[in-house]
Amino acid sequence: MEYNLVTNLKICPEIVSQIMNGNVNLLYYAHIPSAIVALLMGFFVISKSKTLLAKIFFVFSFLFFLWTALNLVAWISSNSKAIMFSWSLLGIMSSLFYVVSLYFIYVFIDKKDISFIKKIILGGIVLPIIILTPTRFNLSGFDSLYCYAKDNLFLNYIYVPQIIASIWIIFVIIHRYIKADSYNRKQIIPLAIGIVLFLLTFFGTGYIADNADSYLMYSIEIYGLFALVIFLGFLAYLIVKFKAFEIRMLAAEALVAALVILLFAEFFFIGVENPTVTILISVTILLSTVFGIWLINSVRNEVKRKEELQEMSTRLAMANDKLRQLDNAKSEFISIASHQLRTPLTAIKGFISLLLEGTYGEINVKARDAMNKVYVSNERLIDLVEDLLNVSRIESGRMEYAFAPTQVEDIIHELKDNLVFNARKKKLSLEIKLPEKLLPKVKADYAKMREVLSNLIENSIKYTDRGGVTVRAESGQFPITNNQFPNNNQISNDQKNKLQTDDCVRVIISDTGIGIPAEEMPYLFGKFSRGKDVKRLHATGTGLGLYVGKGIVEAHGGRIWAESEGAGKGSRFIVELPLA
Ligand code: ADP
Repeated sequence: MEYNLVTNLKICPEIVSQIMNGNVNLLYYAHIPSAIVALLMGFFVISKSKTLLAKIFFVFSFLFFLWTALNLVAWISSNSKAIMFSWSLLGIMSSLFYVVSLYFIYVFIDKKDISFIKKIILGGIVLPIIILTPTRFNLSGFDSLYCYAKDNLFLNYIYVPQIIASIWIIFVIIHRYIKADSYNRKQIIPLAIGIVLFLLTFFGTGYIADNADSYLMYSIEIYGLFALVIFLGFLAYLIVKFKAFEIRMLAAEALVAALVILLFAEFFFIGVENPTVTILISVTILLSTVFGIWLINSVRNEVKRKEELQEMSTRLAMANDKLRQLDNAKSEFISIASHQLRTPLTAIKGFISLLLEGTYGEINVKARDAMNKVYVSNERLIDLVEDLLNVSRIESGRMEYAFAPTQVEDIIHELKDNLVFNARKKKLSLEIKLPEKLLPKVKADYAKMREVLSNLIENSIKYTDRGGVTVRAESGQFPITNNQFPNNNQISNDQKNKLQTDDCVRVIISDTGIGIPAEEMPYLFGKFSRGKDVKRLHATGTGLGLYVGKGIVEAHGGRIWAESEGAGKGSRFIVELPLA
């Protein structure tokens, strides 16, 4: 295309200087840093994230960079060819801004690419501009008197895609906002503000400049560039805030880079003539750099910590899952194994009983003695298997309870008859202290509660060498004591002292035995937990009794805990059950 262009027009710088009121530096100052910052932001985002959104943002900021650069050339060049060239491209750029903004909004909100049809439509509306740009429909000639490119009627077409895309953008934003939940709304609002402000500023300042007749109106377009960069930064920040942690970093970096570059620009374009301003700007640059580095570092640390935390919690969740699976498998295994063990053990018990009773004929004293030992060992095995079965039942939630109103005294009397023999064998007293009036009935599974209390009394006998065991029962409301929360530090002692139980029945089994050292207290009711001292007593056991007991009592809605003044000072085990 030939416009008979004259190159190197001396008149152009003069005209520009006139238009700009002599302040030509403002053009460089506004354009160059803005273009650089936009380009940097685009590269930052694309270097850190390869998502479609990041790519669109890159295109967007690159377009802005091109537009700014071309606009600067159109302003300050005195070469008419260069002016015509850049001038002719500005129309495509500005239309593309709107279309790309629309694309950006779709991908940002929907988190996926737009449909092929939409792409065709968007391409279709900018295509005429792209095709007509290099023709005379775009620019009709160059006015070398006033040093500007003459627009053709076609230029009005650039408003078509801008208007279509603007209406479309507003529609998408409103539509998606109505449909979104509160979290997504939080994303949509700043996005809408950022994009709309960008496009409004771009359109508004451009429109003013196109119809300008004074320096003031031209300079509005130029100052508008700063606002545009800020909105661009805002969009970059959004990608960041709602996408990945790492890009949050980049927002901080971009912000600081933008700040320092802008300040530097000021230094070159304004400050040089005036020493006071030079010093002021230098100090500002220094402070911004220091502050910026600090900001970047602190963001980096925070981001890192957050990422670490997130990774750790994911790993923890996985490990937890695995553990749970293992635990289930283990409970399953114990349950199967125990069932298989129980059958032969019961058979052994039965046959030995028959043997001892003489069903298979008389047996001599030595054999009877051996037989008795087999019987006792077999009983221990049966207890162990029963404990293991109970553990697996409690842990898998398969323990079945037959709750009924129960008189605790009945259990205690029954146990006394069974256990008084054990106590006497160790020369220990076994004392029962019950209130004269009958206690209120509790809600309990008789057999399971008997097992729990039996284990507690057996323990007391087992872990006592001298003195004896007392079983007491009482009912009423009781103050809640510290011992009931051995591991709970969230409740202050004062608070605990004020708490009271509901009406309930307590069974207290106290002994004068080895006691429980304070450091063992928190682990007492744990699985397989046995005290350090118990070996000294040669007491057999598995460390499962209290664990099972706690499970059963808690399933009753009751509480169980231990109290002891320390090693050698006896122990108290308290079971508290709600009333029926
Ligand atoms: P086991 O008696 O089979 O070891 P338990 O679960 O019944 O298992 O008890 C766990 C631990 O609690 C015991 O090993 C012992 O250290 C401690 N313990 C239980 N009862 C008493 C008690 N009356 N006096 C002192 N220590 C006790």
